[in-house]
Amino acid sequence: MLSGMPRTERTPGGGRPPSQRPSKTCAHCGLPFTWRKKWERDWDTVKYCSDRCRAAAKRDRT
Ligand SMILES: [Zn+2]
Repeated sequence: MLSGMPRTERTPGGGRPPSQRPSKTCAHCGLPFTWRKKWERDWDTVKYCSDRCRAAAKRDRT
């Protein structure tokens, strides 16, 4: 159901080549993950590679 969605993004990946994107290590699974467009605004606070890891980490603490 993607019909009708306007294509406004001209520079996928934030305009930077993948090799120049920052990366972090997931605080839950320990795997490295790379900057994503959806983290553009809160990359500094991102600790987990995915929503699944974030939820799992929360579950572990409680
Ligand atoms: Zn993870």
